[in-house]
Amino acid sequence: ELSPRLQVVADYVPANARLADIGSDHAYLPVALLLNKKIQWALAGEVVQGPYEAAKRQVAKNNLEKLIEVRLADGMEAVLLEDQIDTITICGMGGVLIKDILERGKKLQRLSGKERLVLQPNVGERQLREWLTTEGYTIIAETILEDHRKIYEVLVAEKLKTTAQYTEQELLFGPFLMEECSTIFVKKWQRQLEKLEKVRANLARSDQQLDEKISQVELEIQWIQEVLHESE
Ligand code: SAM
Repeated sequence: ELSPRLQVVADYVPANARLADIGSDHAYLPVALLLNKKIQWALAGEVVQGPYEAAKRQVAKNNLEKLIEVRLADGMEAVLLEDQIDTITICGMGGVLIKDILERGKKLQRLSGKERLVLQPNVGERQLREWLTTEGYTIIAETILEDHRKIYEVLVAEKLKTTAQYTEQELLFGPFLMEECSTIFVKKWQRQLEKLEKVRANLARSDQQLDEKISQVELEIQWIQEVLHESE
């Protein structure tokens, strides 16, 4: 049984996929997808010894050694051409780390650009969306959800024939999420608004010249207020 967070990710993995789950930890995601016979084959990549061993144990416990290969490798270095991977999941890390893993994968020619990417950044969603769009990916779906009182975003991206263009606001809020404006989305941005208002007050009290920083914070506050007012 997957957590609600990983279940959303699993639902975005196409049937019969050949999956690479990078930073797999216990390999819960590929194990669940193979036990349900949803996908063909999976690779679980881990860069740290402990989680790598946890993944190996989980795969063995479920007798899935023939269908899940666990590899100790840094990021996309786990992926080989002959694996014929068509879907990549990278979950439970910061958006900047996810972006760095993809960027390095591209440089090492382990990322062809044909794969579907299902990404679940814990923070840094904006930076990840920026990277995706400068690389010519289109965001084809997004979900925001709450799991154990934490709010998570899941992004699905693919390279399509025509490349999408996004506004600064869409990169921050997510094109689908801001359109949908769900209760959880409103909750996330209300929290962020409160945080930024405190940041602004602290900056205003400081003796240093922080005009640029203040105007950045004010711009984000303004965008959030706009997006929240549209939801009323
Ligand atoms: N993906 C699982 C999930 O969402 O539940 C596990 C998330 S866990 C918080 C993050 C995992 O990513 C850790 O086990 C860590 O070792 C691994 N990781 C971090 N950087 C990595 C990299 N460059 N390559 C492979 N794994 C990495």
